[in-house]
Amino acid sequence: MRFIVSEGRLIPEVLAKANDPAAKPISHIDSMPSIPMHPEFPYSPELLSFLEGKQLLLEELPFPLDLIQAHYEHGYLSYEKGMMKTKHGWRCMRCGNEEHHFFASFPCARCQTVCTYCRKCIMMGRVSTCTPLVVSRFSFPQDRYLSPLSWNGTLSQGQQRAADAVEDAVVHNGELLVWAVCGAGKTEVLFPGIARALEMGKRVCIATPRTDVVRELFPRLQQAFPSVPLIALYGGSDDRGKFAPLVLSTTHQLLRFSRAFDVMVIDEVDAFPYSVEPMLEYAAAKARKEASSLIYLTATPHPAWQKEIKRGKRKAVTIPARYHGFPLPVPSFEWCSNWRRQLKHRRLPRNVLAWVQSRIKTAKQAFLFVPHIDVLEQVVCILKQLDQRIEGVHAEDPQRAEKVQAFRDGRIPLLVTTTILERGVTVPNIDVAVLGAEDDIFTESALVQIAGRVGRSAQYPSGDIRFFHYGKTRQMIAAKRQMERMNKEAAERGLLKTQ
Ligand SMILES: [Zn+2]
Ligand SMILES: [Zn+2]
Repeated sequence: MRFIVSEGRLIPEVLAKANDPAAKPISHIDSMPSIPMHPEFPYSPELLSFLEGKQLLLEELPFPLDLIQAHYEHGYLSYEKGMMKTKHGWRCMRCGNEEHHFFASFPCARCQTVCTYCRKCIMMGRVSTCTPLVVSRFSFPQDRYLSPLSWNGTLSQGQQRAADAVEDAVVHNGELLVWAVCGAGKTEVLFPGIARALEMGKRVCIATPRTDVVRELFPRLQQAFPSVPLIALYGGSDDRGKFAPLVLSTTHQLLRFSRAFDVMVIDEVDAFPYSVEPMLEYAAAKARKEASSLIYLTATPHPAWQKEIKRGKRKAVTIPARYHGFPLPVPSFEWCSNWRRQLKHRRLPRNVLAWVQSRIKTAKQAFLFVPHIDVLEQVVCILKQLDQRIEGVHAEDPQRAEKVQAFRDGRIPLLVTTTILERGVTVPNIDVAVLGAEDDIFTESALVQIAGRVGRSAQYPSGDIRFFHYGKTRQMIAAKRQMERMNKEAAERGLLKTQ
């Protein structure tokens, strides 16, 4: 689409009375007019409630263009550039992409020029140099909820302190990092703060890079806040395009929001792809109101953030103890020679094999983490000779869910896995080993998460964690230190059970 600039406003070429040679794609218009809001305008509540808090493409708005234009001309919505020229090229204003190789050009029928578009967020509909993003400038009064929380669990002492800090951040629009060890129970820590936000008429979003997390949190939040409309946004969910006081969203779905939320919680902030993928950061910043709070939840903050916390440059609260009050089991390191060479001869290092045999013998379930799929296949092949029930699972495995379920049911004694199971899967009584812990894929954060699988239940709070390696790495040492530090802090703060 092309626009004409006339009398301090933009007019879509298709609505203009005559052809205008000066019509331009929106990204090429130098100064964008701003229009004051006309309070007497009989606005369409359907259109404005559909658009509230959003940033949408025209084709995502099921309303006629002249109605949209009338709202624009009376200051109720604005057109923003889908792409912005930068010093080095373009920036996609929906997803924040500036990387050259994620842009492409095509002869565009809508603006009759060669149009540049963003490939990075193309699955949400195309944003190109002639694409306006439609943003609401109007907001309806927000509902307040009286005592919306109906959760009657109790928080541990460590959780309570973090929950107080979250609530404080919510009330004062602050920024806070909650660093909670695996198994600390970080979701419950949000409950009092969310309740307070809803009482104040604030809108809350919990954003995460992972669809699994959205699906897992949904029933828990629904139960905790039964009277509050809650929606879950992820690729394929029925709630896409809707808005509610309480929203759970993945990165991509969050891209459709703009200045919508008073409280933004980012869960599993260290998880792939956030750590290597700036899109969630951009989306979360765009979806927050200017005055809003920002809360990060993580078990394994990025090393740069750990440094900032240590220097007092980042506000953080730690929960160093698990909810059951037992210390984190700490990994031990064991050298296992050049295991790759042994694999070539269809053998496993003797100590690794002995570790597996002893789990089978004592019927203690275990995960064996390996760095790559090719390793996985070789290892499973060798281990099946020990016990036919041993299985392997990886990200593209079509039977992934079934195998994880079979493991939970106790039908698989040992599951060989790539890092896909490093988080999320919780099984009560297991041991964990890593083969090739020196591989680059096993970062400090990945290793902490892997170790975090062990001892999660109060009934079985301990277990064996073994990092088999062919040369210790800094990452391994940092992971172990991190867990030891947390145990020390938990003991000093009196958060551990005294026998
Ligand atoms: Zn984009
Ligand atoms: Zn175009």
